[in-house]
Amino acid sequence: MFWKKGSSFLRTTTFRLTFWYIVVFSALSVAVFLVVYVSLALRLQDQTDSELLDESTEFAALYREQGVKALQVEFTREAGARGTGRVLFQLRSSDGESLAYSDLSQWKEVGTSRPAERIGQGNQPYYRTLSLPGRRHKVRLLSMPISGGQRIEVGSSLQREEIILERYRETFGVALMVMVGCGGLFGFLLARKAMAGVQRVTDTATGIGRNDLGRRVPLADEGEEINALARAFNAMLERIEILLSEFRQVTDNVAHELRTPITRIRGMAETTLKGEDDLCEYKEMAASVIDGCDDLIEMIGTMLEIAKTDSGTVELDLVPLDVLELVEEAADLFTPMAEDKGIDIRLNKPYRTAMVIGDRRRLQRVASNLLDNAIKYTPHGGGITVSIEIEAGNVKVAIADTGIGINESDLPHIFERFYRCDHSRSTSGSGLGLSLALAIIHVHGGDITVQSSEQGSTFSFFLPASSSQVHS
Ligand code: ADP
Repeated sequence: MFWKKGSSFLRTTTFRLTFWYIVVFSALSVAVFLVVYVSLALRLQDQTDSELLDESTEFAALYREQGVKALQVEFTREAGARGTGRVLFQLRSSDGESLAYSDLSQWKEVGTSRPAERIGQGNQPYYRTLSLPGRRHKVRLLSMPISGGQRIEVGSSLQREEIILERYRETFGVALMVMVGCGGLFGFLLARKAMAGVQRVTDTATGIGRNDLGRRVPLADEGEEINALARAFNAMLERIEILLSEFRQVTDNVAHELRTPITRIRGMAETTLKGEDDLCEYKEMAASVIDGCDDLIEMIGTMLEIAKTDSGTVELDLVPLDVLELVEEAADLFTPMAEDKGIDIRLNKPYRTAMVIGDRRRLQRVASNLLDNAIKYTPHGGGITVSIEIEAGNVKVAIADTGIGINESDLPHIFERFYRCDHSRSTSGSGLGLSLALAIIHVHGGDITVQSSEQGSTFSFFLPASSSQVHS
């Protein structure tokens, strides 16, 4: 359990940010340490070297002025004063023989016993750093040429420098541990603060239940990125809420709309069964059942078509087509039905063609639905005018009737699925025709508008004119 929690913490962004923070922080600290350490070491060495050079120059001057004896006295005095283990002074002849020297008992490796020492026989001061057996600290030696091939050798223990560097290393080690600890804690707090907004979004998302879609992530001051995430998440919740309520409404409508015809069909079958065993009645009942089923099948087909078109998953068979010709065909098709009601259909077509890119079968369905409605809701002896215009790069088809009109309160709803105004209860229909027309026009990049009064209604649909039409 604890292990599981630990391993899931290792996978969190907070942990990763903290980890990288510590790594980068430590790497930078070590880099700074190295730079300071190397420059300090070089500085100390420079200082030692210049001290050695100064001393050997002074010894050379003394030798030149007062000879080897005076130099020997000075070597002994100076070494005695500073500690024979800490310094070495020596004058060598050109063949390496020691002419004057301080106490060399602690400098055996480099002392008089090695007259053949050839190192530093050139004309330049020659510096060396050596580790001598039995000595804890290294030594720095300068071999400086003077006149006649003779050389003055000056050595100094590096004890002081090494102690300084060692203290510096120890201090840095402790400081690094403290810095990494504090830096890690600081990095963790920083990462946790940065992630707090994300956590808030996660908490809200986790807390949202089936009936709790109204909750939103509160905005805070954790930075614009987090607020943008919260806003995007809230917008998504809003869309899901709308979609879900639409979905619920559609399901309610479907259940309601299907129940009525199914109950009717069942009622017919039940009545026939309870009646006499009359073959004619059975045949009538069977015919009615078939009609009822056909209506249901058509309704279900239309619902599926609307759903597919609305979601954009419908496959359109797009071709260049003349809307004028398409509307003319539809008007011809509905003329007999209009004539039965003594309705006159007139066509206004100021153009020879009105080209669009569209799916012929689906656009035919739009024109048919609108014409069908216009005839259905126009009383005997009325008139329908179909006008085609080209407006601002769109082909506009307006179907105006002198029918019963639509109430202002109904207008915002007539494109909703299954919505039927009170006045149409006595007329056949499913309330799906306008929804399908709107979905088809939308998927073609167009729109439908409606204007209505007591004198009648005008439904207009707009489709983007194809470029050949725009230029003609
Ligand atoms: P329906 O199958 O009922 O005709 P529609 O979706 O085509 O379904 O239309 C929805 C409702 O809009 C209709 O029930 C009707 O009340 C109203 N309507 C549509 N067109 C007209 C019109 N031209 N005149 C009056 N009312 C109309």
